[in-house]
Amino acid sequence: MTTLHGTLLSPRSADSCEITEKAIVEIDADGKIAQVSPGATKVKDVVGGADCWILPGFIDAHVHLPQWDRRGLDGLDLVSWHEKVAFPAERRFEDAAFAQKLAREFITGVVACGTTTFSAFGSPFATSTDRVFSVLADTGVRALYGKMLNDTNCPEGLCDETDKALDESRELAAKWHGAEGGRLSYAFSPRAATCCSEKLLRGTAALADMVACYVQTHVGESQAEVAAVRESFPDQLDDTEVFEEMGLLKKRTLLGHGVCLGDSQRHAVAKAGTALVHCPTANLFLEAGLMDYVAHRRANVPLALGSSLAAGPEPFMPAVAVQALQTARAVKVHAIPRPRYNAPTAAEGWWLLTNGAAQALDMADRIGLIEEGKDADCLVVRPEPWIAKLPIEQRASALLYSIRPDQIEHVYVAGKRIGPK
Ligand SMILES: [Zn+2]
Repeated sequence: MTTLHGTLLSPRSADSCEITEKAIVEIDADGKIAQVSPGATKVKDVVGGADCWILPGFIDAHVHLPQWDRRGLDGLDLVSWHEKVAFPAERRFEDAAFAQKLAREFITGVVACGTTTFSAFGSPFATSTDRVFSVLADTGVRALYGKMLNDTNCPEGLCDETDKALDESRELAAKWHGAEGGRLSYAFSPRAATCCSEKLLRGTAALADMVACYVQTHVGESQAEVAAVRESFPDQLDDTEVFEEMGLLKKRTLLGHGVCLGDSQRHAVAKAGTALVHCPTANLFLEAGLMDYVAHRRANVPLALGSSLAAGPEPFMPAVAVQALQTARAVKVHAIPRPRYNAPTAAEGWWLLTNGAAQALDMADRIGLIEEGKDADCLVVRPEPWIAKLPIEQRASALLYSIRPDQIEHVYVAGKRIGPK
């Protein structure tokens, strides 16, 4: 039994972030939250204290693991980024020992930033994918991961033969989906509509359905990408329709970016229960555009946040949430002036980092909030002391904008402490 003590943050909805002072959180031997109660504890050996906060772990729903050591390479557009950074970074995963080493560095790094769950793309190499899964199992983090799928429009060495790509993915999914008591999930990972044949996309949809796995891909990331999709699939109008036609627009599919989606696409995504992963830092870094977050929210699209490393330079998810809020404000004041535009506030930032993302990922029965019966994925954080002196209704906002990775003292996943080192 582990007992945590501190101010508890509970992002219950996009506009409600509850704060419970002097909370006691008890974690049982199975790694589940046994009890949450206010007041003093008789237990001597508590983690945290009156100056600490207890937060649900952060969820990064779109990240590229092979690009961990390629952050902050400025001055490239999306196409050049792929050629100069993304493809060479993935190519290194032909060496499975290298993939294993980088996976450890990646996990140590993001866990130190408070990320307890991530959905990561890998490389097209099956052996490396298997090896990375072993590291995920060993380190105790909660993750969705998968072999990158592409069989066209990709450089040699990374471009797969279609049947081989599907067979390898099926074997990896059978081995790893639901492993470690459900802590690991397999995500079929077609790179983008432009890099996949119709056969590969339809095969992916069929396999993902069969094993009840996740699917992750990219959609509407930039105008250039949208134009390229039109060229590859002239019968469909856009990549959302391509994915819909191929059977990939469904619950447990995570679409990264969506900068260029219009109203009809947003509604199709919302109707299918498909998650859209907003990657505000990457969208700006590669000058792809400002995603209209408020329009997506109004269309009831399930939303999560992604660091999109390394197209996004920032692994610390609260900074990505702040960028999401700031981008929505930039759209409000600059791009599309609308009188009744409610820009999201800090409560929504916390929601996107935790419970909202858990709902978008169909994992809210296990994670996203610290409450009885859920898995204990949580952080103990010691923020700057002035926050405790603010009126209670201002504290969640102050914490979101001021929190730093070095203030995170403990990271738990399913009740086990996994960082920081
Ligand atoms: Zn991506």
